Amino acid sequence: MNPVNTNANIINNIGLVSRTDSTRSVVASGDVRFGEGLVVIAGPCSVESEEQTLRIARAVKAGGAHMLRGGVFKPRTSPYAFQGLGLKGLKILKKAREETGLPVVSEVLDTRDVSWMSEYVDVLQVGARNMQNFSLLKEVGKSRKPVLLKRGMYSTLSEWLNCAEYILKEGNLQVILCERGIRTFENYTRNTLDLSAVPALRELTHLPVIVDPAHGTGRVGLIPAMSLAAVAAGADGIIVEVHDNPAAALSDGDQSLTPAQFSELARKVTALRAFMEGLQ
Ligand code: PEP
Ligand code: MN
Repeated sequence: MNPVNTNANIINNIGLVSRTDSTRSVVASGDVRFGEGLVVIAGPCSVESEEQTLRIARAVKAGGAHMLRGGVFKPRTSPYAFQGLGLKGLKILKKAREETGLPVVSEVLDTRDVSWMSEYVDVLQVGARNMQNFSLLKEVGKSRKPVLLKRGMYSTLSEWLNCAEYILKEGNLQVILCERGIRTFENYTRNTLDLSAVPALRELTHLPVIVDPAHGTGRVGLIPAMSLAAVAAGADGIIVEVHDNPAAALSDGDQSLTPAQFSELARKVTALRAFMEGLQ
């Protein structure tokens, strides 16, 4: 029998996403296991060229990343901004995975792309702007790929969990939640990274929760501190953007770490996680 899912009863522990005991789900993509240890995802905001992506993929692998990110369908505010390389970009990501062994996550924007895109990526990302695209949620719910579901920029935890519920209800239990900041009146940062969502979600759901301090702040200088804070709050992973020439990036250069900044960050978050495990 399907549970009856209203906002109220998701929060009151009735949905498939709800936490009913101390068990937390592990979502696996190859050797990468979300919900066990700390998963570090890094890569360019956008796949721009084969050379750029392979260079960055090698650099983040050497710096300690477990998974590669890279957008090929970009949800840009302006229709004139770089929209992504599409299929060409997916072929580049596949090559990067073959060379580095890193599994790949990339955003799917359109229901029509879910099934064929699954041949190229290991995890399907549903972005903030599509969090409540119910057709897309149902489609990725029919897929057998793990789904990285980002928080909508205007969404409550209850709305977000209901969106995850759409995916689970279709039979795909492999959902990873990603806090990436919400819109508030503050405009120094691109968004306001809601780190209280991490312990709150650990109470409410068995699903793994990761944090994106890049979109969450929009400022490279704030990313190290907010990554460490995310780990301290109990996140199962972080996802950051890396570019070897941030000033020339076709998207999100202001929030892209250099490979050297990334390596330092990966070392620190790993050390903090190990320290925290020692506290338990
Ligand atoms: C991205 O990951 O590049 C992206 C567009 O993220 P969000 O959907 O969180 O804005
Ligand atoms: Mn981006």
